[in-house]
Amino acid sequence: MHVLLASSELHPFSKTGGLADAVAALAQAVGRAGWQVSVVTPLYRGVAARAPGLRPAGWKFDIPLGPRLVSGEFWRLDPHPNLTYWFVDQPGFFDRPALYNEADRDYPDNAARFLYLTKAAALLARHHPVPPSILHGHDWQVGLLPLFLHHDRIARGRLTGPRTVFTIHNLAYQGSFPVETWQLTNLPWSWFHLESAAHHGHLNFLKGALSLADGLTTVSPRYAEEICTRQYGCGLEGVLRRRGHDLTGILNGVDYSEWNTTSNPALPHAYDAFHLAGKAANKATLQHELGLPVRSDVPLFGNITRLTDQKGCDLVLEALDRLLPDEPIQFVLLGNGDTDLAEAYRELARRHPRQVVARIGFDARLAHRIEAGCDFYVMPSRFEPCGLNQMYSLRYGTIPIVRATGGLDDSVIDPRADPDLANGIKFSEISAEALEQAWRKALALFADPVALQHFRLNAMTADFSWDRQAQRYLDLYREVLHGP
Ligand code: ADP
Repeated sequence: MHVLLASSELHPFSKTGGLADAVAALAQAVGRAGWQVSVVTPLYRGVAARAPGLRPAGWKFDIPLGPRLVSGEFWRLDPHPNLTYWFVDQPGFFDRPALYNEADRDYPDNAARFLYLTKAAALLARHHPVPPSILHGHDWQVGLLPLFLHHDRIARGRLTGPRTVFTIHNLAYQGSFPVETWQLTNLPWSWFHLESAAHHGHLNFLKGALSLADGLTTVSPRYAEEICTRQYGCGLEGVLRRRGHDLTGILNGVDYSEWNTTSNPALPHAYDAFHLAGKAANKATLQHELGLPVRSDVPLFGNITRLTDQKGCDLVLEALDRLLPDEPIQFVLLGNGDTDLAEAYRELARRHPRQVVARIGFDARLAHRIEAGCDFYVMPSRFEPCGLNQMYSLRYGTIPIVRATGGLDDSVIDPRADPDLANGIKFSEISAEALEQAWRKALALFADPVALQHFRLNAMTADFSWDRQAQRYLDLYREVLHGP
């Protein structure tokens, strides 16, 4: 059986967030389970340099985008015998400094760029020597893939084409474009309607997938429930409720071969749940690196994030404002994104140089050192489809403080829910006060080494491995192919 995944990000070649990690890990886990797997993704700038062995596949193509024919070429990399990465080479679209935007501004041709990727994925599915049984798209960039496959089936009579599965990694990003963009699909206007990708007078890529994919998933069971409500549905709760029977929540897994504390080249000191001296050493090294006082008795809190409203950065800033004058705490932020939020963190760090560090930028290795060196990880998201950092924190024995939403709710256990299995601290209300209260619970926990050790042991032994989660995708693929 062959499954083709389509995604605009793929770790370790291109990444802005959890999508890249999830698609790469899912592909590998499905491959380990014995399926043939392909992933199709853009050949962004710099990818070739990072991927020894990547070579042109000898497959050039012209793809129509409205009145234009745009030439491109597949490159391929075969990291394992049953896993192939197909990179779409179209320099005009993908050889750019960033994936989606520069200086807070989306590239104006994002609709064309990602329709091109989508059409290349459909082309690959149609002409691959081993036709895929399942075409699994991820996020809005390839949201119209189920529509193209549906069109192939209905209008072109390709009844044996692949079935489609679509995963929503974040409902807030929908790919909504002016109606005229539809002409880039080269599909008849009769296919543009409310039961396909039309939404409030726009072409909505994500809605195309929600309307027409054979199977729908999102990345945690809790988020699957939440997005059917008005509060979390981002205007698409109607179609999601209609498709409720086809919507499943499958929590992302963690790639423990990369995110581990025992054999990790990014960490200065190895440790595990029963040998925590290395964690203390990582904390001291991190404090030193960040220019903070090296103090084992001061709790160190961390946050690694895209700087966006979703992640509750404003709540962190306000809670820190309340806590910092009086409490002996240290805090490190690693983030990039919104320039105002970045400046607010820098300003806080200027006011509290011995307590707060703001590292603005993207630094994968520093992310590991922060996860390992901190005592607590703060993640007060307004919504969180799955969230990976809280799961990394758990494995690193860094107690997560999270808002009870989406995957954060599914992966963290608060002592009020189960004192024996507690591995983190949860709060519900979206407010700086609620976060501050949770933060104070963390301070109390830090002051009680026996309780902290209990939380850490539970955290570090929690298992979110991909192999288990991938089985759930395989079950879904079988169900989509053969019925329940
Ligand atoms: P999202 O996908 O919404 O951004 P997740 O928690 O699911 O959030 O995944 C975020 C991923 O991106 C994690 O692997 C995290 O470590 C990484 N990440 C986010 N921002 C940065 C950054 N500034 N530097 C390094 N890694 C980052």
